Amino acid sequence: MPELPDVEIFKRYMDSTSLHQSIQDIDAGDSEDMLAEISRRDLKNRLKNRSLLKTSRHGKHLFAKLDNDQWLMFHFGMTGFFKYYKRSSQKPEHVRLRIDFTNGYSLAFDSRRRLGEISLIDEPKQFVQDRNLGPDALKDLTKQQIEDYLMNGREMIKSFLMNQEKIAGLGNIYSDEILFQVRLHPRTKPPDIGSSGVIVKELYTNIRKVLKTAINAGAVPEKFPDHFLIPNREKGRQCPRCGESVESIKCAGRTSYYCPGCLNAHGELLS
Ligand SMILES: [Zn+2]
Repeated sequence: MPELPDVEIFKRYMDSTSLHQSIQDIDAGDSEDMLAEISRRDLKNRLKNRSLLKTSRHGKHLFAKLDNDQWLMFHFGMTGFFKYYKRSSQKPEHVRLRIDFTNGYSLAFDSRRRLGEISLIDEPKQFVQDRNLGPDALKDLTKQQIEDYLMNGREMIKSFLMNQEKIAGLGNIYSDEILFQVRLHPRTKPPDIGSSGVIVKELYTNIRKVLKTAINAGAVPEKFPDHFLIPNREKGRQCPRCGESVESIKCAGRTSYYCPGCLNAHGELLS
């Protein structure tokens, strides 16, 4: 499922392929259940003869500004991605929205499982507010927000990291990686985590470090560093740090992976 690093890569892909070109046509034929508050016909009429000027990202949402000051919004759901192509033989299999440019190329939004969302909105900041999205995990999160959770939070650390109203951008996979890096059990709750400055800093630093590293690797797990859990995120695989078997548990309705050998008895930080 696309999380912040994946969506950042989609943003860069769009930036490098699809900006400043006139939109000749739109095919939104297979997008109906993914369109939010706009009909297929409306979307087509409002995009035709426009161009995309710039993009912006908040958490897992991507926004592309049109030259009429509206923004096209994408959420990639479980399986969404973009493909920019010229020949129809290169067209991906599950295209929900296709934007044809006057240069003969098309940008397709593909989503096999039809989850995700496409919409036209007036302004990203307002959208973020209306959806109650928390600060972007990479650009806007502060140490204070982490400290507040450690002082007053009641939910498990994994639920906190994945809660889009608390922090926007992290999902199941990257929250496991962050917890692996800080050696915390996914089910740990405050006050067992503690709230010392060291823990706040560790969490804050590792959220950013994990996301930046993933983006620099193009969000391709095979290119992640050896000390990352993600390439070994499978039950029974060896922990890249201590060699013990990676375990899985259900946590907040999702399967979480962690290494029991890298935690102490209380799930606290090891030095
Ligand atoms: Zn380990």
